[in-house]
Amino acid sequence: MMAYARLGVRPIINAKGAATRLSGGPIAQPVLAAMAEAAAACVDMAELQAAASRRIAAVTGAEAGLVTSGAAAGLLLATAAAVTGLDPGRMARLPHTRGMKNQVLVARSQRNFYDHAVRTAGVRLVEVGLPDRYAGAGVRDAEAWEFEDALGPDTAAILHVAGPDAQPELPKLVAVARAAGIPVIVDAAAQLPPAANLRRFIDEGADLVAFSGGKALGGPQASGILAGRRDLIMAAALQMLDLDVWLEQFRPDPDFIDLARLKGLPPHGIGRPCKVGKEQIVGLLTALDLFLAEGDDARTARWTGLLEELQGRIGRIPGVTTGLVPGAVPLLRLDLAEREAWPVVMALETGSPSVRLDAERHRSGCLLINPICLQPAELTPLADRLREVLA
Ligand SMILES: *Cc1c(COP(=O)(O)O)cnc(C)c1O
Repeated sequence: MMAYARLGVRPIINAKGAATRLSGGPIAQPVLAAMAEAAAACVDMAELQAAASRRIAAVTGAEAGLVTSGAAAGLLLATAAAVTGLDPGRMARLPHTRGMKNQVLVARSQRNFYDHAVRTAGVRLVEVGLPDRYAGAGVRDAEAWEFEDALGPDTAAILHVAGPDAQPELPKLVAVARAAGIPVIVDAAAQLPPAANLRRFIDEGADLVAFSGGKALGGPQASGILAGRRDLIMAAALQMLDLDVWLEQFRPDPDFIDLARLKGLPPHGIGRPCKVGKEQIVGLLTALDLFLAEGDDARTARWTGLLEELQGRIGRIPGVTTGLVPGAVPLLRLDLAEREAWPVVMALETGSPSVRLDAERHRSGCLLINPICLQPAELTPLADRLREVLA
């Protein structure tokens, strides 16, 4: 806190979850300790990433892995890998993709702000399907046959944004992509917990999967995981690592980067601006270990406990109903019967301490509290602010 006070920056109470604009979550002490240790010594980054690759492979069931500076960076690197393969000349030419496969298919219903990261590699997104289930006019979304129909000579990959309602289901997309010989890239940024999702998309046939390290995984805010096929991870790593060396000086583990498969070493790649530091890599891997050691049940119980305690401290407020919403990440729901929720959101944000919560459903008078970034010491000031603003 001293560091923030010196800058005149006021800490907030983050009841929204690990959003990037809210600086993610607090990093657990063991992760901070590992980051401090890692930051105090120097290593060869290709060697460190090769070690990370082995750990990510063991945890995800993928052939290989890479620590990225976030899931969005993972999407950029994944797309670049799909477009260039192991051709250093192509790597050098990105984002110019003339003469390369440069289209990525995506269900129209899955377009989102993060797919800019995919386009950054120099590809065009081709939208598939008509999601009339979202218009209240129908029940359907993109179907596997429509992806087959949209495939062409320029199709480099299929992008799938994972989620409980994502259509078509991943195995069906994988079948289409396999038949066409192109990779499926899965954006699974916010799909942890459950921990089983670390393996699920790989098990279902995804070629590359991107996770956020700075969300519920509890890693550094600017970290992420890209897991997948060995050759694609190799292509991704080559487009992010610092390659300002003579070939003789570059001696990566051949399981991670096999120089025998390259006709030469590319210059710095399109992923070089997404570089990841040694302390991010060690922090992410430590957070991953802690995430797996705690397990889903204990984690959900811890979060539920926090929310129940908060609910108790909020107590009864006339015109407000509170209730726990169960789930992998449980939430505390505040229903404002008669009152508009938006002024409440703004009063909480602009008050002191500033409270940020999930206002996505404010139009229906519902505010949500997410426990991922809440610390026990914040429950009393948070309950006090809620009581003041809602009373
Ligand atoms: C959060 C998120 C991202 C970006 O993740 P970062 O780790 O912040 O780069 C990408 N896609 C989806 C669906 C997300 O929710």
